[in-house]
Amino acid sequence: MTGLKLNPILKDTGEASILSERFQIPQQDIILTALNLSGVSSDLPEKRVRFRLTPNGTQKDFYFALCVNTAPTPFKLTGSAIYLADEKIGSVSFIENDTCNDNYFRREGTELTLNTNSRSSCAGCAICGTYSLDADDKGRLLKKDILSQRITEILLEHGQKDCSNLYRVTVCTGCFGSEKTTVNHILDLSEVLEKFGFKGILRYIGSEITSESALDKIAERVPHFALSFSTEMFTRREKLLRKIKSRVSFEDIKKTLNGSMDRGIEANILYVLGLDSLSSFTEGFEQLQPLMNHFPVVNLFQIYSPEQVLLRNGEANRIEYYLEARRILEKMYETSTLRPESWENYRPLWYLSFGKEKKNDIRI
Ligand code: SF4
Repeated sequence: MTGLKLNPILKDTGEASILSERFQIPQQDIILTALNLSGVSSDLPEKRVRFRLTPNGTQKDFYFALCVNTAPTPFKLTGSAIYLADEKIGSVSFIENDTCNDNYFRREGTELTLNTNSRSSCAGCAICGTYSLDADDKGRLLKKDILSQRITEILLEHGQKDCSNLYRVTVCTGCFGSEKTTVNHILDLSEVLEKFGFKGILRYIGSEITSESALDKIAERVPHFALSFSTEMFTRREKLLRKIKSRVSFEDIKKTLNGSMDRGIEANILYVLGLDSLSSFTEGFEQLQPLMNHFPVVNLFQIYSPEQVLLRNGEANRIEYYLEARRILEKMYETSTLRPESWENYRPLWYLSFGKEKKNDIRI
């Protein structure tokens, strides 16, 4: 564990209660946000664990993936309970080691994520923790026959006969190295999935598709495509991201989102909250919000190694930063029908409510 001295993001439930009044946000949302940011201390041997958590005072459970004993934290995981400053805040079930797998399901088994390009082998972004996880995705699934075989195995493991019940397949990978290779892989995957009866949305998470011709090719060949641009942050991009990602400018991102929407493609960004100042965050989202037709995925910046604490923006060591950011996005989306989906993001800003609305969506 790091020897860095930092005040905890949240001290105790008393502080959460005061902030809840001030920001008009459920106390549980504040506690769960702080938990996601802080990780847990525990006697468990794992460096990172996944589990379900039912917070006190609710019937709902939420899925978490958290670092264990990485940085000083006021949260403790003992047996099947989590404590904040020695006060129990919820019950935990299904604890398991968090590995980097080549596939997993969300949305009650109707959304399949495929890491076809051995994401665990991808390295170079200072903010990333993927390569510190135990790897369970070593084989690359880049040829059509290998993809086909792996999908057959996955369906068998999950007792499904084909992909006809899938709402969406997400391909989330380490970088492919070129736009051409990325596009070809997406087209191959689309073709393979079609043979398995897939009729849902094929979504790509990454930053390697930016040209008009690539978008044209995909729009022409993939029946329902979604692009989630892994933007990550608006400032310090050269410092925090590997070159292949940082060379894409903010203007490129805007153009790609715009070009996607023009072609009927579902478009949004992935953003890591905690790295930009609140003013840069606001400015960036003000420009991008009109260019997205799907709610952005805003991930809380988690600390995978002690040194990563230093990458946080100075403003982001306080919970108020996150509650302000939440308020800013709620305001921006107040009149829109787009909302964050709990199943889409395991380190979100929203748990029980969005603005004045109760959240009542599919959770896992
Ligand atoms: S591109 Fe960067 S953030 Fe994404 S998996 Fe590779 S190292 Fe991690």
